[in-house]
Amino acid sequence: MSAPVIEKPSLRAGAFGNATGLSCRECGHQVELGPHYACPECFGPLEIAYDFPAVTREEIESGPRNIWRYKALLPVPADIETSPNTEPGFTRLLKAHNLGAELGIDNLWVKDDSTNPTNSFKDRVVACALSAAREFGSKVFACPSTGNLANAVAAAGARAGIKTVVFIPSNLEQPKQVNSAIFTESLVAVDGNYDDVNKLASEIAGEEDGWAFVNVNVRPYYAEGSKTLGYEIAEQLGWRLPDQIVIPVASGSQLTKVHKAFQELIKLGLVEDKPYRVFGAQAEGCSPVSVAYKAGVDAIRPVKPDTIAKSLAIGNPADGIYVLDICRETGGAVEDVTDDEVRDGIVLLARTEGIFTETAGGTTVAVLKKLVKTGQLDTSLETVVINTGHGLKTLDAVSGRVGPVATIAPTYAAFAATSLA
Ligand SMILES: *Cc1c(COP(=O)(O)O)cnc(C)c1O
Ligand SMILES: [Zn+2]
Repeated sequence: MSAPVIEKPSLRAGAFGNATGLSCRECGHQVELGPHYACPECFGPLEIAYDFPAVTREEIESGPRNIWRYKALLPVPADIETSPNTEPGFTRLLKAHNLGAELGIDNLWVKDDSTNPTNSFKDRVVACALSAAREFGSKVFACPSTGNLANAVAAAGARAGIKTVVFIPSNLEQPKQVNSAIFTESLVAVDGNYDDVNKLASEIAGEEDGWAFVNVNVRPYYAEGSKTLGYEIAEQLGWRLPDQIVIPVASGSQLTKVHKAFQELIKLGLVEDKPYRVFGAQAEGCSPVSVAYKAGVDAIRPVKPDTIAKSLAIGNPADGIYVLDICRETGGAVEDVTDDEVRDGIVLLARTEGIFTETAGGTTVAVLKKLVKTGQLDTSLETVVINTGHGLKTLDAVSGRVGPVATIAPTYAAFAATSLA
């Protein structure tokens, strides 16, 4: 892997808030804050290290109704609200009575991230990456994407007035292509799968100066944005952790960071320390983490994705091994479902809770159902399932399943002839 190429910038004081440096997740080696992402000693992933001040619930509650209410816990400056961004987050946490009853879960919640500015959880990570890119003086804001990330990068860049270039696999759903192209002139469709696109992005990052690839060379900053999902769930439960949580897995970053968020809240004394189980959800057609989990092995064997859950179609997940660790340590599991079950999951969530999710959410709901059926999930415990994206982006997945019950003439007689009268 080539070294990051953004020139060493002179950073303003407090540019990254309470962050103190970058720390290697594998060997603990420390690196100073900058556009670095791989450990110079062992090539392990770098993560943000902090020196958190005392943070109170009241301080957080008095903040804005978006992710910046947690700015003290993120690598962003204290004046972050003054820079144009998409202000994602503080999405609704809904008590899912009907879905719970359907699945036999007593106490179920849906964290609905489909209502973010570009209708997926990716707005959270992009908001943090944009802040970092600004502080590094990056000229181009870019990403390789399975779809939602490109939407979020293109929109945030437009709002921030910074040039964006986004790369996607050329077979991506049309709505996701339009949802990027509407915000940027530079949507690049690459003939290859996500893992090919990702490799290309790393090459470009190594050649071009001043390009901030959100999930490549500014990945440590980007990834921290996912923590806000964990913070919000705890705050919205009344400063409590759930007993069980089900999270979709693509690269595995989100799941890893929700767990990190829960651990930080415990350390800061903002929630009571208690056990909780983390479950990962994948689609069978791209389930390298689930396969490793079930085989009881630590190594993840990359796969060639073939699933309708394209936003989860990462065959070589960067954080997959950490997902395995977390799900095993907490007494959770990683499970996978077929594309048909994904479609059923989309319809089930819509019909029970009035939430239209994309294929990633269909995967997560279907995995929740399977975890209940296989006895891996305790139905008596408080459970949260995360919906990470919006169904309007993956209409094709269910357009064959749902539609008019009848097409009739505009007469009462015609209506009376249907089963609805
Ligand atoms: C990217 C994405 C995920 C998973 O993200 P990772 O952090 O890479 O595991 C889940 N759901 C949707 C809708 C996404 O776009
Ligand atoms: Zn290292």
